[in-house]
This record gives sequence, structure tokens and C-alpha cells, in this order.
Amino acid sequence: MTQLVGIIGNPLAHSISPFFQQAAFDYLNISARYEMWPTRRNEFYQNIKKLFGVEYLGANITIPYKEEVIKYLDDLDSKAKLIGAVNTIVKKNNKLIGYNTDAFGFIRSIESKSDFCFEGKKVLIIGAGGAARSAIFSLIEKGIKSLVIANRTLERANNLAEEISEFVQLEISDLESLYFQKLVGESDLIVNASSVGMAHTTLNSKNLIKADWFSSKSLVFDMVYNPIVTPLITEARKAGAESINGLSMLIYQGASSFNLWTNKEAPIQIMTNAAEKALKVL
Ligand code: NAP
Repeated sequence: MTQLVGIIGNPLAHSISPFFQQAAFDYLNISARYEMWPTRRNEFYQNIKKLFGVEYLGANITIPYKEEVIKYLDDLDSKAKLIGAVNTIVKKNNKLIGYNTDAFGFIRSIESKSDFCFEGKKVLIIGAGGAARSAIFSLIEKGIKSLVIANRTLERANNLAEEISEFVQLEISDLESLYFQKLVGESDLIVNASSVGMAHTTLNSKNLIKADWFSSKSLVFDMVYNPIVTPLITEARKAGAESINGLSMLIYQGASSFNLWTNKEAPIQIMTNAAEKALKVL
């Protein structure tokens, strides 16, 4: 029997997970297929329930469902529970267990692509959804000094802030004020954990930060991986700031999901090659 895994979210046109996960299954001769399951809100519960079918190994969960999915799961891994966001479901003994591999992918990506030292640093994170949560909890664990959460919807940023205010020096910002511009210039690490800049959406050419707001000493991390060079990364480069796009995070979080589904070591280089190839055609 061919086993099935897939990605549940909306929109999914930008997703390259099927390409690199399938490459990993094929490389290790595992009889499994990774599918795309675009899911509108009214189909969400039904698509989660489908995972109880005998052929399903689990799923990835992406925008906008990483927080909402929790209520449909039987149990959560301790990290997913702490973060409050799930990007991976594994079926074990006919129970759906939620994991968060984004947090690991985020930190592993920064550590492999730069010599940034987290301790004592000022961080600005844009976004307050599932991806932002994953990054924030891992940044706190790494010992950052202070954090600003900047989000379009301030209420969502405030809700997240309430959960973490005892662990880190914290501020909230909008995305349009002069104060936001000032924060950009003062931050050691700036992370885009919003959907702004994503290909195949109306946000593809939207940019939140202009080059002259950056300090050239900042590290800029864009979780968006499609396109490879996002509007934010273009501006960071103009400012002479070091930048990392979301591709390596995607591969590391995906490799960790793969390990959970298969109990096998993920072939990172095979996955990276397949992802880079997919991005050229998507
Ligand atoms: P989510 O839970 O749906 O959150 C989306 C975030 O984007 C929210 O903060 C939302 O603000 C903000 N946003 C949406 N449209 C906006 C706009 N027009 N202007 C300003 N802000 C806007 O999604 P998520 O799961 O956190 O994912 C966020 C992004 O991270 C996506 O691009 C996703 O592909 C990327 N990601 C990448 C990786 C990776 O491995 N590289 C992993 C996870 C996620 P509001 O609260 O105001 O709606």
C-alpha cells in the first residue's frame, strides 16, 4: 500500500513541500506519496478527519491553520503545546499528534547560515501568526534580550504578548508608524514571519521596510522562500545588511517532519536540490 502524507492550507500555490518531501521518499525507496490538499475553512475539519484513514501517515499544516488545528488533535508534543502552533501531524496508534518543527527549522537555519549569536540581542519580529509564535518561543529559549512584535492587527500581537511577557522584555508595534521605522534601525535581528512578499498572492510585491530604515549591522531573516529574493531581502541587500531567506528553514522543518513520519534520517541535500529545482519552475 502506498502511504499518504500531504499539506493542508490555503493558499498553497506557493508551496514546494510536495517536491522536496517526495524526493526524500523516493530517494529512500519509501512507498509514500506527498500530496497538496488545498483546504478552505469549511473543509478543514473534514480534511483532518480524513487522516484517520489507514493509508495516511500524517500531514503538514500551513497558513492559516497552525493554531486552529490544535483543537482537532488528540495530543500535542511538549514544544507544540508551549508554542501553541502545530505544523506537523503524525498518526500514532490511530491518534493524531501535533508537533512543531518550525521552531527547530528557524533556529537551525540561522545557525547554519550565519554566525549570529542570540544572547543579549534585540529582535523585531513582523507577524503574530503560527510562524511568529514558533520563532518567538525559540528566540526566548536562546536568550535574546528584548523583543518587538509588529503586526497589522494589534489585537493579535497583544494576545501573543500576554502569553510571553514574563519571559522577555517586550514591546508591540504597528507596521506603519515612524516608531516602527526607528525600531527597524535599532534591531540586531529582523524577522519577517508574515505572509507579505509571498509569490502567487496579492502580497507578492508588497514591502514593509525601505532600505534606508535598516542598519547595515542587522541580520534580516525572511521566512518567505518563494520567491528566493523577496522584496524585503532586496531592500536589506541595498542597505548592506546580511540576509537569509526562508528556504533553509523550510528544508530543516520539513526534514524534521519527515523524521517523525518515517523514523528515518531525512536526506537534507536531496531535499534541498529538489526544492531549488522546484523554485525555478514555480
Ligand atoms: P498565519 O498564521 O496565517 O499568519 C499570517 C501573518 O501575516 C499574520 O501576522 C498576518 O497579520 C500577516 N499578514 C497577512 N497579510 C498581511 C498584510 N497584507 N500586511 C501585513 N501583514 C499581513 O501564517 P503563518 O503560518 O504564521 O505563516 C506566515 C508566513 O511565514 C507565510 O509566508 C509562510 O509561508 C511563512 N512560513 C515559512 C516557513 C519556512 O519554513 N520558511 C515556515 C512557516 C511559515 P494579521 O494578524 O494582521 O492577519
